[in-house]
Amino acid sequence: MKKVKILLAVLLAAVMVIALVACNNTCKDGEHVWGTPKVNTAATCTTNGSQTKKCTVCGKEVTEDIPALDHDYSDQPYVSVGEEGHHQKCVRCDTYNDVVAHTIVNGVCTLCHANCGGGGDDPTPPNPATK
Ligand SMILES: [Zn+2]
Ligand SMILES: [Zn+2]
Ligand SMILES: [Zn+2]
Repeated sequence: MKKVKILLAVLLAAVMVIALVACNNTCKDGEHVWGTPKVNTAATCTTNGSQTKKCTVCGKEVTEDIPALDHDYSDQPYVSVGEEGHHQKCVRCDTYNDVVAHTIVNGVCTLCHANCGGGGDDPTPPNPATK
């Protein structure tokens, strides 16, 4: 009985050592440990980029797409295009979004500050900020 127990323990230890060694240089699919990806082509607003990432354990390299960023108009100033309205320029590129109508308060657009009365070249805000 005792002999069998020892044999079993030895066998178990051997299996563990083998498993440990095997773990060192191969990764099962989906279990790679990716390092910091290297960007090959940066993504733009409209086109995908690509990057290569490398497993720090087995050295496998994978090149993958970086999804296009899409235009970003957030917090961009409104630019008047005339009487039709105003639009905004993308943070990253020279694309403008759709022209929308001015939001007129007291003859002045509250967003782009265009004086839509026509001809006024220096619109004065209705409530001048304290200086
Ligand atoms: Zn790996
Ligand atoms: Zn853009
Ligand atoms: Zn406007």
